[in-house]
Amino acid sequence: MKIKDILAQGRPTISFEVFPPKTADNYENVEAAAKKIALLKPDFMSVTYGAGGGTRRYTIDIADTLNNEYQVPTLAHLTCVSSTRERVHEIMDELNKRGIENILALRGDIPGDGRVETDFRYAAELVREIRSGGDFCVGAACYPEGHVESANKTADIGFLKEKVEAGCDFLTTQMFFDNHILYNFLYRIRERGITVPVVAGIMPVTHVKQVANICRMSGTYLPERFKALVDRFGDRPAAMKQAGIAYAAEQIIDLVANGVEHIHVYSMNHPDVAEKIRENLSEIL
Ligand code: FAD
Repeated sequence: MKIKDILAQGRPTISFEVFPPKTADNYENVEAAAKKIALLKPDFMSVTYGAGGGTRRYTIDIADTLNNEYQVPTLAHLTCVSSTRERVHEIMDELNKRGIENILALRGDIPGDGRVETDFRYAAELVREIRSGGDFCVGAACYPEGHVESANKTADIGFLKEKVEAGCDFLTTQMFFDNHILYNFLYRIRERGITVPVVAGIMPVTHVKQVANICRMSGTYLPERFKALVDRFGDRPAAMKQAGIAYAAEQIIDLVANGVEHIHVYSMNHPDVAEKIRENLSEIL
């Protein structure tokens, strides 16, 4: 099923994300985690594309299992930096054969050594290629706080508009910890004429180490309320996990109450976290 059709049903939705293993010996563990999350019956699941592209086979195989064995509509991620034009078409053919109808088109992060494939420079070019080459529902990423490399939010939203006009059916946001940032972003993009559905990406922070990674990679703003929780519970893993899940659940409730009805949870291959979020929201999503 196409995600754009799920998002058009006029009801709140919840989706979860998993990432493929880096090596074959961890495949079974990741697949088992993905299957457990699938049993929670989310509206869809997404499977990321590993930096470097070396794990693309696993992305497709896990997406296949979720889509065809568990009947959970699946979104396969794909990046420019790790894909030649030829590779993109191979992947599209493979997804098509396996009945996977949704692709999240991304640029990918530029690796430290700067070595990237150059057939597609920006995600918008990949969106256009996928659109013209098959009957896929195409999503893309957006950044409520602006992408780290962009000069400012206005320029970033300008490029986002071009990306949507290249053929995006929906957008998924980078994680954020202050809902007002999302409300402001939605106001700004709607004002610029970007009308596709926006799925809000929420990360339940369950381990103190995640916080440093989040700040390093995306520069996401951490509200005082969130920092207090990390200060107080950061050295007690079980307490940190409980507090991080509660914070994410509260964020989601506020979003849905304010009309942001499509929620994507960065569940990071943790079925227990996905399950707790599901439980906390059982009457809401
Ligand atoms: P783009 O939309 O291409 O934008 C990248 C930068 O270029 C932005 O600063 C933008 O403002 C600028 N820009 C865009 N167009 C132009 C133009 N024409 N001229 C000049 N500047 C321009 N990474 C992975 O490796 N694998 C994944 O599976 C993955 N999944 C993700 C899922 C989500 C929901 C999100 C939010 C991110 C994900 N990422 C993933 C990370 C993502 O690849 C990086 O954030 C990357 O740095 C930007 O990707 P993009 O698709 O948003 O890029």
